[in-house]
Amino acid sequence: MSASLPYGEIPDDLQGALVIEPRNIYVAESRRRDPQTLEIVWMLTERERTVHWVGFEELAARRRATTAAPGADHAHAVREAQSLFAQAAALRATDLHLRLWGERTDILVRLHGELRTLLQTTRYEGERLLRAIYGTMSDVAAPAYSPLEPQDARVARSEHLPPGVHSLRIATGPTVDGAQMVVRFLYEDALGVPPEADARGVIDRLGYDGGSGELLHAALDRPGGLLVVAGPTGAGKSTTLKYLLEALHRHRPGLNIQSLEDPPEYPIRGVVQVPVLGEGSADRRAVIHTYLRHALRVDPDVLMIGEIRDRETAALAVEASLTGHQVWSTIHANDADTVTTRLGEKLAGTGWGRNPRILEDPTVLHTIVYQRLLPRLCGACRCLRPLSEAVTLPAMTRRRLADAGFDNDQPVAVRHPDGCDACHGVGVDGLLVVADVRPGGQDHAGEVAPALRARALRLVAEGRVDALDAERAVGPLHPEHGGGQVL
Ligand SMILES: [Zn+2]
Repeated sequence: MSASLPYGEIPDDLQGALVIEPRNIYVAESRRRDPQTLEIVWMLTERERTVHWVGFEELAARRRATTAAPGADHAHAVREAQSLFAQAAALRATDLHLRLWGERTDILVRLHGELRTLLQTTRYEGERLLRAIYGTMSDVAAPAYSPLEPQDARVARSEHLPPGVHSLRIATGPTVDGAQMVVRFLYEDALGVPPEADARGVIDRLGYDGGSGELLHAALDRPGGLLVVAGPTGAGKSTTLKYLLEALHRHRPGLNIQSLEDPPEYPIRGVVQVPVLGEGSADRRAVIHTYLRHALRVDPDVLMIGEIRDRETAALAVEASLTGHQVWSTIHANDADTVTTRLGEKLAGTGWGRNPRILEDPTVLHTIVYQRLLPRLCGACRCLRPLSEAVTLPAMTRRRLADAGFDNDQPVAVRHPDGCDACHGVGVDGLLVVADVRPGGQDHAGEVAPALRARALRLVAEGRVDALDAERAVGPLHPEHGGGQVL
């Protein structure tokens, strides 16, 4: 029985009496007066099928045909999913969402941070797609698609992937009236950095300007110590690490660079990437720590740890940096947080708790990168409006720009409300990094956010970013945060 057929909804004792095909359903004649059968048949015919009441002989023949050719229906669903992936990749979508609710399925894409509807179809089509994507196209830990529990998977086989996409990360689970699946697209050239760029080129291209770029360049030549990229989800932290490590490899090809990721998201050229295995293990943290200790025994010069999530990982990162390794990692931090404080809290529960000032040693924690991603205005359709007439910006935002030095008749660039063909109607066509790079060894409470806002304000003044997008990413653009002098 093909996994694509919705037998999961049908009581076991009825399954022998039914054969379901894409456009037809065959039911044993003997069940014609059975209320439960009639209800199921009614439900299935709602989904655009014709019902045929047949004798057992024909039913058996239909079943053999269906089982022998494991679902023309299913193969079709796989092709449809491949086509959806290709459409989303052509738009450079970061995510594809399939939402099954009631009798319909909404399919959306996330473009430059915002969800857009791609198409709508029936609930049945949505179920076929979910089963095809999870059951056939993915490399999965749990073998069978189960609509009633959250499941994760990954599509990495090239026959299913559009050009330029390295892999897809799948998360699926039930909702109140259906199910959803979110497909994260991992592109090979996520920020458009040329593969042959030198370290300086990569740092410039990622958007680290002035003193931030200098500090980052200096970090590449450190003998050891910890570099941490901080920011909330969606701030491009792992993408940044990928490009910096590739730049480090080209800059110093004699280094043994090892990475430990759970799971690896992007291919990193010149880096030995170790995936954390043991999926579904009861104590995931223990598994990760075993891998981490192993990684330190394979003679690394540089160790990349995907994320410092817990105190043991924090302790191992500090130990590795003290024993002459460069350690590169990311940490999840929101605006008000500071990395030194967050790391200190994690270390407090470990042996390092007796040495709380360890992070103030600049040879231990030498560089902290804070960053956000901002939507880049589409060059083909952005609108230039005098500040006083830029009505798509909230009045408060316009007032803050005026306070920052904009004249009322000075043109500001804003998103075109309908976008254009070049940006697929979104009004933005890419992402820009705003970053602040600080030396470690001190807490930067209250300093980082203003620095990011000043950089964002400069991008607004240059007409590259809409002020509303900038405020959504970094907070209100108050002039006292140093924005005034950039104009
Ligand atoms: Zn446009």
